[in-house]
Amino acid sequence: MIRNVLSIAGSDPSGGAGIQADLKTFSARGAYGMAVLTALTAQNTQGVTGVHTVPAAFVAEQIRAVFADVRVDAVKIGMIANAEIAGAIADMLRSRHDSLPIVLDPVMIAKGGSPLLASDAVAAVAHQLMPLAAVVTPNLPEAAALLDEPVATTREAMADQARRLQRIGPKAVLVKGGHLESEDSPDVLADVAGIHWFEGKRAPTRNTHGTGCTLSSAIAAELAKGAAPADAVAIAKAYLAGAIAAADELSVGTGHGPVQH
Ligand code: PLP
Repeated sequence: MIRNVLSIAGSDPSGGAGIQADLKTFSARGAYGMAVLTALTAQNTQGVTGVHTVPAAFVAEQIRAVFADVRVDAVKIGMIANAEIAGAIADMLRSRHDSLPIVLDPVMIAKGGSPLLASDAVAAVAHQLMPLAAVVTPNLPEAAALLDEPVATTREAMADQARRLQRIGPKAVLVKGGHLESEDSPDVLADVAGIHWFEGKRAPTRNTHGTGCTLSSAIAAELAKGAAPADAVAIAKAYLAGAIAAADELSVGTGHGPVQH
């Protein structure tokens, strides 16, 4: 049976990130995609020019409508925008998370530097949403913000932060090493079994808009199919590598272009 996967995230009208990337990824991974909007952004491949948030009560109403009618096999949470929306999402998912795999991509700042999460909302994400998640996928600055400590600069520090984030409550935490100043780009997963490294090479392309959205959505689709977290991450990373490799076939915008699903 085809799995139903729900993204709770923001919109990117240029189609490279946010719910647009999530829905393309769900389709490419053979799942049926659904989307609850937390915010509209005005953006293109050059950057974000505006953010219009959805009232938290209406985020809750969208989630309620989906769950009232549709079997949901996995949820991916992306841009949350503010603490009220984080609280509304947590309230809607708290009673469901035991039987529903939730992937939390704690999106904070777009590649161009625009904030996608209010700075006073980081604690709500850490304390209300992280404990509900099967997999949390912070990059290095996001992991540091969630722990309120400096950004990791070594593999040892990355693994240590992943382990300590996992102890906050999620089943697994994938700390992504793309911001590491090194030739390679390793990711580290901390789960109940311990630490797993995923080695990665840097892609020779500037078209990496929406890579985080794509990875977390692909993980959610694989969890919906029943994969264990470490297997879901391995499959999702292979999918993302293919989407990045095909990105230069696209001609979308003049900035950091999207990946090809
Ligand atoms: N816009 C939205 C709505 C997003 O959800 C995200 C990332 O999650 C971004 C923009 C950031 O995209 P990037 O930093 O990959 O350009």
